[in-house]
Amino acid sequence: MFQRPLSAEYTGLTPEETVTRIAAAKATLGSDLAILGHHYQRDEIIRWADYRGDSLKLSQIAGLHPEAKYIVFCGVHFMAESADILTNDDQIVILPNMSAGCSMADMASIGQVEAAWEAFGEVTDTSRIIPITYVNSTAAIKDFVGRNGGACCTSSNARKVVEWALAKGDKIFFLPDQHLGRNTAVGLGLDPEADMLLWNQNAPDGHGGTTPEKIRASKVLLWTGHCSTHARFKVEQIEKAREDFPGVQVIVHPECSLDVVKAADLNGSTEYILKVISEAPAGTIWGVGTEINLVSRLAQEHPDKTIFCLDPVVCPCSTMYRIHPHYLLWVLENLVNGVVVNQVKVKPEIAANARIALQRMLEIV
Ligand code: SF4
Repeated sequence: MFQRPLSAEYTGLTPEETVTRIAAAKATLGSDLAILGHHYQRDEIIRWADYRGDSLKLSQIAGLHPEAKYIVFCGVHFMAESADILTNDDQIVILPNMSAGCSMADMASIGQVEAAWEAFGEVTDTSRIIPITYVNSTAAIKDFVGRNGGACCTSSNARKVVEWALAKGDKIFFLPDQHLGRNTAVGLGLDPEADMLLWNQNAPDGHGGTTPEKIRASKVLLWTGHCSTHARFKVEQIEKAREDFPGVQVIVHPECSLDVVKAADLNGSTEYILKVISEAPAGTIWGVGTEINLVSRLAQEHPDKTIFCLDPVVCPCSTMYRIHPHYLLWVLENLVNGVVVNQVKVKPEIAANARIALQRMLEIV
């Protein structure tokens, strides 16, 4: 996604000037505006959020506030697309920086996914394969899933959606995060070797680096995608945390690899991690395997507990980080002047089936 650079009028502002002008623009826009802030956003952005949450929660919140003409989504591109799909036609969804994408969502293009589906169709009956896409995917992938009888899932409800799909068909095709797919299927008792395959869309053989026999034998067809942020967590970091902090409890996100999830004490979505640590007794120690802005905020909000990120090298989601306060100010001041910049609009023909995939998920859970 292309983002034109901001002018010096914005980039030259001090933090104090930026704060003053954002506050003024926000006050002028009043109830016409809702600012949504994903948990992984930096504090300088989160302070302006009317609502905080994970991607789906925020999109649903947007849909519940039709009075807000402008939804400014401080997150990444696929989240703004979901918000556009779930809000009414009169609401305008804005992403402050169009280059805030998601490396995982970018690992599955619709052309690659259609090619894989066609390849599956050459060796098995695709009407018996139920596609599932993590919400961290483009609207085009959600559209593919919706028109092929599948559903979206989040890291909170993946288990229920996978159970539903396995009851409905013979196999599932899980996009785009191999780790969430594998971790969820293992949690349901499936074997990562015997029951699953990894379809490598970049394999030089043009057949996913697998065989027709393996496709027919597998119950779970995983896409080769991952989150660059959560891929940084390793078993050695957990072992080190246990050495350095006797009594530590390790909690990780299911976008981490299977060995990391197995080595942790607990795993779950961002909202789950927040809930478990917030409700834990004072004095407890937590090693956390997820995005650093979230972990740092948790540590600040719970000074009675020891909370640290498992990765000793800071690991922000680099694309989330592209939402700088200068960009937020730029979109807000344009709105004050009656100009909409950086609108995210999903084409109606894609939005229809993508909405079906999202709604199926909401009916399942
Ligand atoms: S944390 Fe990972 S999955 Fe989430 S937006 Fe960043 S790159 Fe994408």
